[in-house]
Amino acid sequence: MSHATVIDGKALGERIKGQARREVHALAQEGIKVGLDTILVGDCSAGRIYARSQQKRSEDVGIEYRLHELGPHASGTEVRDLILRLNADPSVTGILLNLPLPEGIDTAAMQYFIDPYKDVEGVNPANIGLLFYDNPIMAPCTALAVMEILEEAGVTVRGLDAVVVGQSDIAGKPTSLFLLHKMATVTSCHIATRDLAAQTKKADLLVVAVGKPNLIRREHVKPGAVVIDVGINTIKDEKGEKRVVGDVAFDEVKEVAGVITPVPGGVGPVTVAILLRSAAEAARKQLSTPRRLEG
Ligand code: NAD
Repeated sequence: MSHATVIDGKALGERIKGQARREVHALAQEGIKVGLDTILVGDCSAGRIYARSQQKRSEDVGIEYRLHELGPHASGTEVRDLILRLNADPSVTGILLNLPLPEGIDTAAMQYFIDPYKDVEGVNPANIGLLFYDNPIMAPCTALAVMEILEEAGVTVRGLDAVVVGQSDIAGKPTSLFLLHKMATVTSCHIATRDLAAQTKKADLLVVAVGKPNLIRREHVKPGAVVIDVGINTIKDEKGEKRVVGDVAFDEVKEVAGVITPVPGGVGPVTVAILLRSAAEAARKQLSTPRRLEG
């Protein structure tokens, strides 16, 4: 029985972190401090734990991390004013708005205020629009991670039948666009897709970003396909212990696929590293771009 090549996302993530570290250092030599200013709104202990690990990773590559916390009763106006203040501060080079925001605050409206050059996650509608033209200033980290993995695996995307399952704004949709720009024939599947297996079985390249464990089984996959699993799900295994799995039934699919990413250790660590590299890139782009948004 043949087995797929399993992509080592951790190792790739470490290499990308190395690129980030070198770029942060090079910018420091030019007198530019790369920073990551993150905004956390609401009383969210999970958000704080996440912020602590973001801080550790940032500092590990030399990025100055600053956390701005607003309480659970913060209004949209307060979030907007904080973003505008960070936009106007030349010592701030990267802004990340942690989600979810408390109910009643319009997420897209807040993302709209982030300076597109400081928008390290590529969530401002201006960046999303520019992605449509294959020319974003900053792009969504998860979709960038998928493309980086394909490059690492030596996959030539041009001409492939690519199927992307899940079409969220941060993962599936930008990945579909990236693949289209690379001249794949792209099929976009989602919750309303009538016969998922009929679509996925055609895929030379299958990207899954849904959030449902075991959604993709052996019978969904064309032999030899490249399978990229973006999903991150916490489940309880037979012993009642918590385990992180993707959307793809890894053990069975690896027996038919040609290339596969595991969960954990696949797309996740690459995405995390790309955020750091994007933070450095954002600082570099601000250096060479004579523009400033008015707050
Ligand atoms: P989302 O909930 O915003 O979107 C899910 C998408 O899946 C939607 O387009 C929906 O139509 C589709 N969908 C739902 N059920 C389906 C089904 N039965 N068949 C086909 N399509 C279906 O999710 P998201 O934010 O894109 O996240 C998706 C998964 O990816 C989650 O597990 C999330 O944790 C993970 N994620 C991982 C990374 C990473 O770095 N690895 C980054 C972001 C998200």
